[in-house]
Amino acid sequence: MNPEQVKSSLNISPAIRVGVLGFGGLGQAAAKVLAGKREMTLVAAADKEGYAYTESGLNAQNCITAYNSQGSVGYLEPSGTLTTRSIQDLIESADSVDGYFLALPNLPNNFIASVAQEFIKSGWRGVLVDAIKRTSAVEQLLAMKEELEVAGITYMTGCGATPGLLTAAAALAAQSYAEIHKVEITFGVGIANWEAYRATIREDIAHMPGYSVETARAMSDAEVEALLDKTNGVLTLENMEHADDVMLELAGICSRDRVTVGGIVDTRNAKKPLSTNVKITGRTFEGKISTHTFILGDETSMAANVCGPAFGYLKAGIQLHKRGIYGIFTAAEIMPQFVK
Ligand code: NAD
Repeated sequence: MNPEQVKSSLNISPAIRVGVLGFGGLGQAAAKVLAGKREMTLVAAADKEGYAYTESGLNAQNCITAYNSQGSVGYLEPSGTLTTRSIQDLIESADSVDGYFLALPNLPNNFIASVAQEFIKSGWRGVLVDAIKRTSAVEQLLAMKEELEVAGITYMTGCGATPGLLTAAAALAAQSYAEIHKVEITFGVGIANWEAYRATIREDIAHMPGYSVETARAMSDAEVEALLDKTNGVLTLENMEHADDVMLELAGICSRDRVTVGGIVDTRNAKKPLSTNVKITGRTFEGKISTHTFILGDETSMAANVCGPAFGYLKAGIQLHKRGIYGIFTAAEIMPQFVK
């Protein structure tokens, strides 16, 4: 008996076959996370220049080596393909992927929505999960709810750290209160070198005064470095346009103007500049005003706090999909499931 037959004879469901789109900082971390899971298998990975796909599973380290030494997972032998239409070509050729994690830059601000459109057009059915950040980007996806429903796609949006883990924590903490006054998210990110997470850093710069998604996208690597030189590698972000607000509003927890997001990103030091936390202030049914605080452990990296939840929501999305529940859901309305 092959391993799948053994599992089916023991009544164990086969592992969820996962594709990772985007193979930069988060995509590679996602592959490493999956390597330690038995309920999920990495079967596909794509970057800007190619993709790799094999139904029986890809070796995460081989994908990472091909990407870092040659520039694309498309160089992987024998499962790689070089193409500048990697996402479309992968969707067309990979017929056994249950769900994809979109670890792609959302540059321009409608890029992930356009990728979702590609999935809808292709006729593929399954689960998509993103770790998208901006309110306006999540709103574009929410507007596609009916198209996703008709296509048989269960789309989980805003399922990284913030939005994602912290938004979900706020939704849970809100249960103690009769009214929510304030949700304040403050994140600290420490990365040793900005080039490991180029899209994340560009998207963060886009939140700074005087910058936009378009100006940040157009910046060359040298321009990003020059900006980071001026700030000693530190980005301080306040009042960001972050989808935690629309997600908590949609979940009926509080209006979006009660949600604030800001943080500090140190691009030259893996140590977090501050402890990532969310504070939820509200009034209890007895009339007491109080604040719950949820603080992430300082040792947990951005990658751990994004990829863990993304796959937890992917697993939850698979359960919904199996029950014929399609459309779009946010991290604030569904509980993630722990992936073993
Ligand atoms: P990155 O720049 O390190 O990597 C991006 C990858 O996408 C690269 O492999 C690149 O080749 C690939 N890519 C780009 N365009 C492509 C295309 N057209 N087709 C196929 N592949 C393409 O990115 P990153 O820093 O890992 O960030 C990924 C995303 O995750 C960003 O949008 C970022 O905002 C988001 N993010 C979310 C959270 C959260 O908590 N929600 C936290 C961090 C990052």
